[in-house]
Amino acid sequence: MGTEEFNQANEKYAASFEKPDRSKLFRNMIIVSCMDPRVNPYDQLGVKTGETITIRNAGGSAKEALRSIIVAQHFIGVDGEIAVFHHTDCGMSRTTTDQVRALVKKANPGRDDIAETVDGIDFLHITGIEESVRSDVKFLAENQLVLRGTKISGWIYDVETGKISKVVEADHEA
Ligand SMILES: [Zn+2]
Repeated sequence: MGTEEFNQANEKYAASFEKPDRSKLFRNMIIVSCMDPRVNPYDQLGVKTGETITIRNAGGSAKEALRSIIVAQHFIGVDGEIAVFHHTDCGMSRTTTDQVRALVKKANPGRDDIAETVDGIDFLHITGIEESVRSDVKFLAENQLVLRGTKISGWIYDVETGKISKVVEADHEA
């Protein structure tokens, strides 16, 4: 299965497409979640297209998501809760920043410029899932670029059971 299947699948989708009515549907919240294919915030949290801002990256990092959160809050006007989801068995807990840097360097032998660039990137690996959720929620709660008064929650999604659990709640305090 490659991208050549996209057109056929999209034809089916577009045939019964109903344009989401953002003004009626919108739930005024931001979900930050991992890019892992086993994670699907829409199915797992009962969210429909048009209802939330959903930001996904490796590990569901709030630090990496900050740029998008600022745009969502200040430009789009989404001032409701931010829910951060990390998940069990996450790839970012099975590697480290040093290991990812080493892989990039190995793929680019003799390229000191690339080595220097990648040494400047923190890949935000996860050492403990609960700890990483707490750390991300704390990061947002203390970040001055996040809207004052924003409610922030931190969650874990279990890829073995499909269940979610809330780890922490905070109010923005910067
Ligand atoms: Zn993950």
